[in-house]
Amino acid sequence: MLTCPVCGTSRIYGDGKWKICGQCGIEFRHPYEIPDYHATKPKIKSKHLKRARRQAEYLQEHGVDSVLDFGCGCGRLVDIIGGVGVELNDVLRGDNDSIHEGLGDVEGRFSCAVMSHVLEHIPDPVEALLRIRDYAPMLYVEVPHVDNSSAKCAPGHILAFDKFALTNVLEYGGWKVEEIWRTQKEICALCSMITR
Ligand SMILES: [Zn+2]
Repeated sequence: MLTCPVCGTSRIYGDGKWKICGQCGIEFRHPYEIPDYHATKPKIKSKHLKRARRQAEYLQEHGVDSVLDFGCGCGRLVDIIGGVGVELNDVLRGDNDSIHEGLGDVEGRFSCAVMSHVLEHIPDPVEALLRIRDYAPMLYVEVPHVDNSSAKCAPGHILAFDKFALTNVLEYGGWKVEEIWRTQKEICALCSMITR
């Protein structure tokens, strides 16, 4: 039986490539294929630098002085704020000593973890969110809004979110949303860790 990759319910609707969960609201591709991100030839776009600057400004205003940037691309946000990045793609990682191939190589704690345009690529987002709790007490997340045309079309996108769904995913992953807002194309959220 098909169940939701976030909340596990079997109340799933939709008969196309994309399904929607009747409980947590996430939309997910089924079946899905994950590209080999090690081998993908990355496109380095000027919009990514603009995005990193925008994120750095926001995070620094909120007292963030070091990040663990999970899925950091070529590490622009890390270069601006400080901290370390994790990136699967060899080309994007390049010879930047601040970027590691996996979380296993990361030591220490940071003032904020970052997952920018990452969650929509991950088959088990809850597991990833729970794991990132070991590294920082805050988390900044950005995903394409489900209404944006790229959300369901871009290669490798297997999850799509509105604010309700993103808030639910974050809570299942152990994070409480402190601020959540929508830009023209994205949803952004700043979270604190839920401690039980
Ligand atoms: Zn669900």
